[in-house]
This record gives sequence, structure tokens and C-alpha cells, in this order.
Amino acid sequence: MIPTTKLLAGALSRRQVMHLASASGLGLFAGATRLQSASRQSQSSRVAEGSWGRIEKLGEGIWSVVSTPLAQDDWTTLCNGGIVAGSEQVLVIESFAGPAGARLVAQQARQLSGRWPTDVLVTHYHGDHANGLEGFVTGDSRPEIWMTATTRKLILEADGRRDESLDPVRKEMLEGAKLIAPEGVLQLNLGGLDLKIQPRRGHTASDVTVELEGPSIVFCGDLIWNQMFPNFRDTLPSALSKSVRSLRREAATTYVPGHGPLATGADVARFTELIDSVEATARSAIESGTPAAEAAAEFRLPEALEGWHLFRESYFEIAIGSWFKELGLDPAG
Ligand SMILES: [Zn+2]
Repeated sequence: MIPTTKLLAGALSRRQVMHLASASGLGLFAGATRLQSASRQSQSSRVAEGSWGRIEKLGEGIWSVVSTPLAQDDWTTLCNGGIVAGSEQVLVIESFAGPAGARLVAQQARQLSGRWPTDVLVTHYHGDHANGLEGFVTGDSRPEIWMTATTRKLILEADGRRDESLDPVRKEMLEGAKLIAPEGVLQLNLGGLDLKIQPRRGHTASDVTVELEGPSIVFCGDLIWNQMFPNFRDTLPSALSKSVRSLRREAATTYVPGHGPLATGADVARFTELIDSVEATARSAIESGTPAAEAAAEFRLPEALEGWHLFRESYFEIAIGSWFKELGLDPAG
């Protein structure tokens, strides 16, 4: 059965929300600062808006989905994503936090492009990006699902830990997914619109970015966060650092981060500075024999990042601790 569009936000219990929060890597929102309306995008590019977030046009047949879960406490979509429509195929990037979020974006895609999504790509396994797949089913038709084999394996494992009963169609969709090879670029032509799917890693063991030229756009998954301190729970920090550097472009580019408003090259430079400062703090703590928790208590965001949001105090410790773990050390010292 296909859940109705209004299902998620109203129907989730607090416990489910907490579970999703930890599955998503976003952490608990209790006590978090409310996100200010921080987008610098002009109002005129917005083609849809709701308590869940907004859709902005980035080019002919190209739109970003920017979720604003903290603005009105609406978690329907929760992560960012996109819609890319050629004459042959309509691709939605991410399946969002649940079937209701996926359905909302699918309906927007149909309204904007004239067609229900034919393809859905999930950038990585976290629940806020992966839990909506079954919401894309309509009538007898299901879109093609794209993800890496590692992402599929991690989603199936995470699904096994969920305590709500899942629509069996979800497992069928996962089992039938088209697998993105772990190396090399996959070129897709949606009909007059070319895009590149680039496998990467760092935020998790497997992340992919979706990249376009002219207009220059990178859908970053959670490799980039904007105006929010990222969760390093599953992060391989040296790989994250490498991926973030390699997805940056010389040309003026719109970066669609996994969370937070659309980012410019300057925003991505600030994010790079942030992860570098985490690395420097971790390395000097390791050198002086300071435990990660103690180093985290002293850690301050670089000046350029004042005003960024930190969902939980523990995020600094998790971030610094990720370097300890990668270097084979115990974060407790
Ligand atoms: Zn994530």
C-alpha cells in the first residue's frame, strides 16, 4: 500500500523521530538553535515552498530541493536533493526521510517536468536520504533505483534494525537497484541533459555526487554541509578531506549540500577550512596525549563560521574522535 502524502510529519511518534534522528546522523534537535532563514538565493528562483523546505530552479530542467526541518519543525523531506529532467528521463536525487517526503518531491517533479520520476538516486545509506524509496511507487510503475553496492548493503542492514514494519516493495526496489560501480564516472543522458555520477567516500564508506556542466552544479550528498556542523559518526576523515577537495571546481558553481542552504564556492571553502581545523585539533591532541573529549571542549569554530549551527555538543567530540579512530587510537586517550 502506498502511504498518503501527509503521513510523515504528523504521524511519526517522538520515539520514531528520535530514531530517525540518530539514523540520519543529524542528532537530536532538542535544544538546538533554530535555523535562521539564511539562504542568499533570490526569491524569484523558488518554484515551490512549504513548511518542509523549498524547491529552487537552477537551470533548464534542473531544480534543487532544500529542506528546512528546523524552521517549522517539519521533517517530511529532511535532507536536500534535486530533480533533473531531460526529454527521456526524470531523475530525483535522494529518497528523503520517508515515503511522504519522496511522494511530495515526486509530485513536485511531475508538476515541474510534466512527468513522474523515472529514476531515483540515493547518495549514501543514512536514513534521512534513503528511507523514502517506496514513496516513489505509483500505480504499477516504479522508478529505477540507483546506488552503490555498499550503500545498498548498508541500507538493508539499517532496515533490519528498524522497528516499524516496512512495505515489502521497499526490499524489492533495493534488490532490483541498478548498481553504481565503486570506481570511475558513470555518464547518464536523460535526453538532452548529461550528468556525471561520481562515486566517492568519506562521509560514509560510500557516497556519490551528481555533477553537471553548464550550468555548473554539484549535488554533493552529505560530503558538504552548509551552515551546519556535520556529523562525523560514520566519517573516514582523510577520505572526506580528499573528496571535498576533489569535488570543488574553478568555475562559478552551485553546490547543493546535504543539509543547509545552497552553497557557493566560498561556502565550500569555509567548509574545507572547518574540516581542516578539526584535523589540526585532532592531530595536536594526539601529539600531546589529550583525549578527544578534552580537545573538543576547547575547540572553537573558525571565525568565518560563526553563526553555523551545532545540533549537539557531542558533535565536536565525534569529529575529533574520528581522527583518533582512523589513526588506530582510542579517543578516550
Ligand atoms: Zn548522511
